[in-house]
Amino acid sequence: MEVSEEPAKKRILVIEDEPDIVRGIRDALTFEGFEVDARGTGAEGLTAAMDWAPDCVLLDLMLPDDNGYRVCETLRQRDETVPIIILTAKAQESDKIRGLDAGADDYVTKPFSVAELIARINAIFRRQARMSSHPDETFNIGSWQINARKHVMAKGRASKRLTFYELEVLKLLRERADETVSRDELLEKVWGMQASPTSRTVDNFIVKLRRKLEEDQKNPRHILTVYGLGYKLVP
Ligand code: CA
Repeated sequence: MEVSEEPAKKRILVIEDEPDIVRGIRDALTFEGFEVDARGTGAEGLTAAMDWAPDCVLLDLMLPDDNGYRVCETLRQRDETVPIIILTAKAQESDKIRGLDAGADDYVTKPFSVAELIARINAIFRRQARMSSHPDETFNIGSWQINARKHVMAKGRASKRLTFYELEVLKLLRERADETVSRDELLEKVWGMQASPTSRTVDNFIVKLRRKLEEDQKNPRHILTVYGLGYKLVP
C-alpha cells in the first residue's frame, strides 16, 4: 500500500446555531478537502477555538447565548491571527463594519452561496501563504509603520491590528503610491472578484482604514479620494 503524504487539512471551525446552515457548510467544506467542526453557541465555540486551533473560524452573529461581536472580540483577544469570517443575516453596512471592527477579517451575508464562502476562505489562505513567504515586510505611511507579516501598524507605543483585506488594500495602494487606483482594480486585485462584493465594499474599507490611519479622517492626508476615479495613497 502506498503511503500518501498529503498536506494537513486546513481546519475550519463553524460557530453557528442553525442546523441547516451548519449542514450545508459542513458538506461543502468537507467536499473541498477541509476538516470541519461546528458548535452551536458562543461559549462552546470559544472553547473549541482554544482546544482545536482551527485555521479559520466562521462565526454567526446571532447566537443563542451571546452576541457574535463579543465572541469575535474575545476570540481576537485570545488569538491575534486566526482568520474570522462573519456569517451575518444583517445586511446593513453598519453591522458589517462593526463586525470588522470587532476583529473579523471578512463577512458574508446570508443567504450566501457556499461557492462564495469557499472563495473567501481560499482567498484568506492564499494571502496567508503569500504573507509568510515574505517575512518582515514593513513600510511606512505617515508616522505609522506597517508590519505586513505581523498584521499590525505601530506608531510609538500605539499599535493596531490590520485585517487581511486592510493590509492588502494598503499594500496595493502603496505599490502604486501617488497614482490613482480605481475601485474596480482594488476589487479585482484584493478581493479577486469582479461582481461581488460591490465597490461600496471598497468605500467602506477606506472609511475604516482612514479611521485607523488618519489623524483627521474628515481631512485625510494619506488615503485620498480621487473623485469619480478611485483612491490614491500619499505615504
Ligand atoms: Ca444564528
